[in-house]
Amino acid sequence: METIANYIDGRLVPPLGGRYLKNFEPATGQIYSRVPASQREDIEAAVAAAQAAFSPWSRSTVDERAKMLSRLADALETRLDEFARAETIDNGKPLSLARSLDIPRVVVNLRFFASAITQFASESHAMGEQGFNYTLRQPLGAVACISPWNLPLYLFTWKIAPALAAGNTVVAKPSELTPMTAYLFSKLCIDIGLPPGVLNIVHGVGGEAGQALVEHPGIRAVSFTGGTATGEKIAAAGGPRFKRISLELGGKNPTIVFADCDRKKMLDTVIRSAFWNQGEVCLSGSRIFVERPYYQEFKDELIQRAQRLTVGDPLEPETQQGALVSQAHLQKVLSYIELAQAEGGVLLCGGEQVRPAGRCQDGWFVRPTLFEGLAYDCRTNQEEIFGPVATLTPFADEAELLPWINSTRYGLAASLWSSDINRCHRLARQIETGVVWVNCWMVRDLRTPFGGVKQSGVGREGGLEALRFFTEAKNVCVDIT
Ligand code: NDP
Repeated sequence: METIANYIDGRLVPPLGGRYLKNFEPATGQIYSRVPASQREDIEAAVAAAQAAFSPWSRSTVDERAKMLSRLADALETRLDEFARAETIDNGKPLSLARSLDIPRVVVNLRFFASAITQFASESHAMGEQGFNYTLRQPLGAVACISPWNLPLYLFTWKIAPALAAGNTVVAKPSELTPMTAYLFSKLCIDIGLPPGVLNIVHGVGGEAGQALVEHPGIRAVSFTGGTATGEKIAAAGGPRFKRISLELGGKNPTIVFADCDRKKMLDTVIRSAFWNQGEVCLSGSRIFVERPYYQEFKDELIQRAQRLTVGDPLEPETQQGALVSQAHLQKVLSYIELAQAEGGVLLCGGEQVRPAGRCQDGWFVRPTLFEGLAYDCRTNQEEIFGPVATLTPFADEAELLPWINSTRYGLAASLWSSDINRCHRLARQIETGVVWVNCWMVRDLRTPFGGVKQSGVGREGGLEALRFFTEAKNVCVDIT
């Protein structure tokens, strides 16, 4: 059984307290590795290493930092299959997805910020005859990156790449549920010669290691992706310490289907937006609103497609739906299926745990599930389930639709389907989310601002937004009179 190590000051080290947690393979429900249960003293060591590495790293040239990130991307690309398999075993997602989405996107994240930092310019403000101002954007120091389990290495590198590119040093904490690829990544950092202390990876429980990291006085900024309740704790710990905080939180995203849309493209996409990655995507379209005249036809087609999705061993090439990440999460999703029925929802398909024959019989699988007949404001339609469960709701017109869409405390993303261009632009302005996809879903241009409104988050990631977050703007005012 593999024992995962922390990566501190360029070395793989055991947790100082010697405590470990069990790491499970979701597809089998079996323990397959041990993860450090790091504590405050491990965080102390990691922050000290990051602080010591800050001066040389922040003074290295942009080209040197870009080269390091590119080297990591190149090294990872040659081991794509190994990383994809590790991600699948750790998380439960289909191997086909880890190979086509998660790990390729890690490579893209690293290359994107290697390139973006070379294009990162700042402003100058002229004051006529009197002189001018220019803005320096300087790295902050040691920063924290805390990432969740649903897209483990993808979201981990989406944070550390801009932080490192901008000249910061990093202490990162992956989710305790999916530590394996971050551990493999730390070995990659050693292989390519990343200077010690520039990136430190500490594994452990959020409330212990994560909390100690956020509270540490040596940490200048916290970039966090995870649940809204955890975001609240991070804001509460970081705010009074005046840390810069970026929060990418949960979602309860609407998919809006008008009868005049391109139905084939829409259906091919909506089946993915509802069930991709077992619905464990912050952007997943779990509330599907359909224009009434098209509702019955849409419903029949979506049920058929959902029933055709192959649930089973994530390592098998034909599998489209893998296992949920943990037993606790399985219970949470099943409890929402019960709740939906208690709230009067009509089960259209799924609604049950699946026990595939063979090695996955004790795994944590749920069949893709659709409900109808639920009020827009019931708990099932307001709370994030983060599993393969979506609801269908017919609507009459835009006036009826808009308050329903905007009724949740979340505001991450929306996917809007119509061939009426004016309607699309009109609605895009009125939907309360940080991202609106028109006739698409999950199409990502990494230069665009990404993030949520309301309780889906604070701040934006992506492109310049991320580089600005990880730098301090300093105005230099020059009087030439
Ligand atoms: P959590 O909020 O439970 O955990 C996220 C990370 O924070 C984990 O590394 C966790 O560690 C850590 N953590 C937990 N408690 C604390 C704490 N008190 N202080 C510091 N760190 C802590 O989220 P999940 O991992 O369950 O991820 C699912 C959630 O993430 C969903 O709500 C989803 O919507 C959201 N998400 C948002 C995205 C976005 O871009 N807006 C993208 C992807 C997911 P550990 O796991 O070890 O406890």
